[in-house]
Amino acid sequence: ISIAKALPTIAAGLAAGSVFILTTLYISFNYFGARTASAERAQTITAAIAPDTAWHENARLDHYLRTDARGIAAVTDEDGNFIAGNKDVMSRSNTRTYPIEWHGDVVGTLVTQPQVPFKPAVPLWLFAMIGLAVNLAAISVSRIYSERISKHINALVGYADKIKVNSEPPMPGLVEFAELSRLRVAIGRAVQRSTRETIRLRKIAYRDGLTGLPSQARLLEVMDRVLQSSTYESPAAFIYLDIEGYRRACEMLGGINGQQLLKKIASRLSDQIDVLHRRGSVAGTRHMLASLQGEGFGLFLPHITDRQDVSMLVRSLSQSLARPFDVEGRIISVNVSGGIALAPEDGDVPDELIRHADIALHQIRKTGKPGFQFFTPRLDRQIQGRFRLESELMAAVDNEEFVAVYQPKIDFRSGRIVGAEALARWKRPSGKIISPGAFIPLAEEIGLIEDIGRQILNAACKSAVSWMRAGYDTSVAVNVSPRQFKQDNFTDSVIDALKTAGLPPKRLELEITESMAVSNPGQVTEIMRPLRAMGVRLAIDDFGTGHSNLSMLTQLPFDVFKIDRQFVSTLQSDRQAPAIVEMILAMAETLELETVAEGVETPLQADFLRRRGCTLAQGFHYSPGVAQAEFLSMLRKWDSGFGQSEARAAS
Ligand code: C2E
Ligand code: CA
Ligand code: CA
Repeated sequence: ISIAKALPTIAAGLAAGSVFILTTLYISFNYFGARTASAERAQTITAAIAPDTAWHENARLDHYLRTDARGIAAVTDEDGNFIAGNKDVMSRSNTRTYPIEWHGDVVGTLVTQPQVPFKPAVPLWLFAMIGLAVNLAAISVSRIYSERISKHINALVGYADKIKVNSEPPMPGLVEFAELSRLRVAIGRAVQRSTRETIRLRKIAYRDGLTGLPSQARLLEVMDRVLQSSTYESPAAFIYLDIEGYRRACEMLGGINGQQLLKKIASRLSDQIDVLHRRGSVAGTRHMLASLQGEGFGLFLPHITDRQDVSMLVRSLSQSLARPFDVEGRIISVNVSGGIALAPEDGDVPDELIRHADIALHQIRKTGKPGFQFFTPRLDRQIQGRFRLESELMAAVDNEEFVAVYQPKIDFRSGRIVGAEALARWKRPSGKIISPGAFIPLAEEIGLIEDIGRQILNAACKSAVSWMRAGYDTSVAVNVSPRQFKQDNFTDSVIDALKTAGLPPKRLELEITESMAVSNPGQVTEIMRPLRAMGVRLAIDDFGTGHSNLSMLTQLPFDVFKIDRQFVSTLQSDRQAPAIVEMILAMAETLELETVAEGVETPLQADFLRRRGCTLAQGFHYSPGVAQAEFLSMLRKWDSGFGQSEARAAS
């Protein structure tokens, strides 16, 4: 049956029923109406026939009139002449005549045209009942139909509703209406087609093309599902794996071979996990190793027993990567690091878990050594704080909130202040002063150090000029961070600062750390060549902490060694410290370099250093870093012999 046909049938039923009912009503009105009308007419006509007629003798006429002449009648005399009534009747064909008698004589004729009232074969009440029944039937049929239609439509809608990316509900059973059947088939086909397409796309999206491992999309989906049932009793773990040394290897190997290497790393990792799996390690079961965007890997462990479980697994992973790789005859070594987050402890949705594992990984990267780190809420707070600091630092660079304080350097022989080291301070609008340890590493990391460094360099040159103008022969030392030093226009910015301030180059000293100097001696020499030619001096900062060797030191263009604070401060407590300091001093003497002992805090330390031939001292024993104006008054005080004698007295 089709809806298109069923509906007209119902409509026809309703119409037919209504016609029945209306007909019944019409007929009954006419029938009873006719009866009343003819009874009245009968009296009128009989009264018209001679009033002197003994009507009672013709009582049957009344009967005729009542039964026959419900419509019309006429009365004539014995000769057939019209007397009263309706004259037309006489000329009609199907009339009946009845004699009108008077004392036995026929005095006239009653002419009637019988109007047989419509008398239905079926009684009217039955007729009406049939109409009602037809209507009721049509209504209930229509209700049944509409229920059935909506049931099917609902089933189809429900079916369409339940279709999800990875589940296809059972198709609703056969439907009886042609249109709905076609709709069902059409929906079924559309779903099939899109399911096929989804499966195809999923295959593409769910595999990483290069490594053949599940993709990040796949990993997220699995994690999303599994994490819903992770509990503290049965936690899951996500490990963000980072291959250290891969980038470097890629640069060396080139694109195609780099990919080759990544493939090998992936297969080594997944083989190792399989080995663990076979051995029955809990963490090795039902794992998912996926390729993440970039060149990292994500390892998801749906069920672990505890942290040890995970630690054991990651240890064996890093062991598996310890063997070097052979890529087209080249031997490549890489390391793996990982950040680990547990669910639900560290997050119960994939994004959060991954983010936290990433934070933990970040922490490991900061140490500069490969390893693994579990996420802790403290790390998260650090990251949040870091974000805040980052944005504040950016604003501070624009607002030039960085100032320099100057810490004096004292000549051991003369007891005079001969120089100052400019130390950066971040002066917040609130008046709070922040030490460089709290912002320099971050500024270095996010690329703000160049700007901060320039601000300090300019300030230091200006200050030195003001001391010079006040008559003091004081040089200034400025710390230069690795990133700042390696900047293309570093040389220019130094020359610029000197020129702008009007400072003779020989009064400027640049401090770079030992570790940076030894990491690339050639570059240091290169960058310093033009500056040294002008007279700018170079100091090696934190000396003793890096890994420089003698031959390297002789090649590097240094003028000053700054003995790291840790050796000075432990002179009394550490048995090796004096020996190390003596060795540095001896080396400096051989190389004819100046030496600055950093962090001199006690007279004993000063004494030891002076006697061993150290040339300059710097430390809280003399003064911490002070603002430029204060430094000038310190110069004056020391010059008048006051500060000097004070320090002497102290030592
Ligand atoms: P640094 O170059 O070794 O600077 C010496 C640090 O030791 C300064 O800390 C100074 O205040 C502190 N100090 C000086 N005498 C004593 C002492 O007797 N005892 C102790 N315990 N400490 C003493 P500060 O100012 O916090 O600077 C820390 C580090 O920040 C510096 O170490 C330097 O590496 C870096 N830094 C400072 N200013 C700048 C700058 O303008 N640019 C760059 N790139 N780095 C800077
Ligand atoms: Ca320094
Ligand atoms: Ca130092």
